[in-house]
Amino acid sequence: MTISRETLLLRQIERLKGQLAALGDLRPGSLSTQYNVCGTPGCRCKATPPEKHGPYYQVSFTRKGKSSSKFVRRQDLADIRKELKNYETMKMLVDRWIDLATELSNLRLAKKRS
Ligand SMILES: [Zn+2]
Repeated sequence: MTISRETLLLRQIERLKGQLAALGDLRPGSLSTQYNVCGTPGCRCKATPPEKHGPYYQVSFTRKGKSSSKFVRRQDLADIRKELKNYETMKMLVDRWIDLATELSNLRLAKKRS
């Protein structure tokens, strides 16, 4: 016996919810690396070739239409990378959920009309 498309969609949605519930800490944004030049005369960052200060790590993100950024300490990099990855996974799962839920809704509406 083959299962109905509706049952299949419901199963997929339940699996997505489980994956979402299992996600760890998350945060939106992207990580960038910077090297800076300072204002100290004769500093190595102004030598030829220059040895700039850094790397400095920064997370840039946009929330409610507002862009911000935050410096990240080297010892927090691994945690931050994991959180950024979890955020991307969450977005992907929610996106899939929306597609499946829309298809399920359309199926049920069509069933009611027939
Ligand atoms: Zn310098």
